[in-house]
Amino acid sequence: MSQFLRAKYAGLEAYTPGEQPRDKKYIKLNTNESPYPPSPAVLAALGREDLADLRLYSDPEGKELKEKLAGLYGVAPNQVFLSNGSDDILNFTFMAFGQDGAVFPGLTYSFYPVFADLHGVPYEKVPLKEDFTVDVAGLSGRGKLTVLANPNAPTGIALPLDRVEEIIASNPDHVVVVDEAYVDFGGDSAAALLGKYHNLLVVMTYSKSRSMAGARLGFALGSSEIIEDLEKLKYSTNPYNVNRLTLKLGAAAVDSDDYFRANARRIMDTRAKATQALRELGFTVPDSQANFLFITHPKLDGGEFYAKCKEKGVLIRHFSDPVIAQYNRVTIGAEEEMETFLQVVQEIMKEEGL
Ligand code: PMP
Repeated sequence: MSQFLRAKYAGLEAYTPGEQPRDKKYIKLNTNESPYPPSPAVLAALGREDLADLRLYSDPEGKELKEKLAGLYGVAPNQVFLSNGSDDILNFTFMAFGQDGAVFPGLTYSFYPVFADLHGVPYEKVPLKEDFTVDVAGLSGRGKLTVLANPNAPTGIALPLDRVEEIIASNPDHVVVVDEAYVDFGGDSAAALLGKYHNLLVVMTYSKSRSMAGARLGFALGSSEIIEDLEKLKYSTNPYNVNRLTLKLGAAAVDSDDYFRANARRIMDTRAKATQALRELGFTVPDSQANFLFITHPKLDGGEFYAKCKEKGVLIRHFSDPVIAQYNRVTIGAEEEMETFLQVVQEIMKEEGL
């Protein structure tokens, strides 16, 4: 740390992203990326002229992409906000709407407390229930910014829409953010409730189901007033937050919407097979509606299991939080990748005499 950092940031504990290793080639099941490439339309969307046009700034309004997304989700273009990955939107959300504090589940996306600390927003964590489902009553009527990842991470468990609605309806004077990074893998989107609730903000990303994590594109849907607030912060931070290439690729992806939905179905099929195989090997695996599984085995230490998988060329995600130290999060890869992972699991179990 330098002597120049403002005192209020000195104690900030930054978010630790999943490893992006360069040392050797792993089967990469650690950051919930898609195993499939973006759609053919996206792959063909950019030409030399687009690269030449990099001399120009991007459209700060992202007009074309907003119009396409508005059409896809049945809202008006002024109900769409675009950002450099959905983390950016979550950041703005704490910055903009955290004046009375924030509340979120005890086990959820570990970036939320970092954003809260960054903006000096006091927060409360509502513990999950014993079966790892979200405590709806505990999150309801709290009179604070309420943030719900649905499906939740790292559990993969989704709340049905009527339970999500209870939380939104109970908190009319504060924004309820539903972070739907994983919704395309079997969850029900709260976007269907946008006409009914002025306090709802649905946050989505191109990083998972649309196979475009590297393009850094997120978007949010909400009332035009909430979107206007987010725009105010964006124009006070970085008006050109989405680059020209990504704006174009994002629009091409909307035009080929069926492609990513078919990939999501493939991933869901692979998920069902992997869930069953892991359960047969004695793992506890909650039913996931996301592109990952949250797994533990009564006779395998979580940290050691992670290290052994890595040694054998499969990278999964282990979290330092002691409450979940016995768990690992495993992204659903392609069929062959999951077969290799399951072979590795069996090898480890054999070595452990199980
Ligand atoms: N929300 C959740 C629940 C996530 O797991 C992630 C991915 N780390 C994000 C948001 C952010 O994704 P991105 O910034 O790539 O859109």
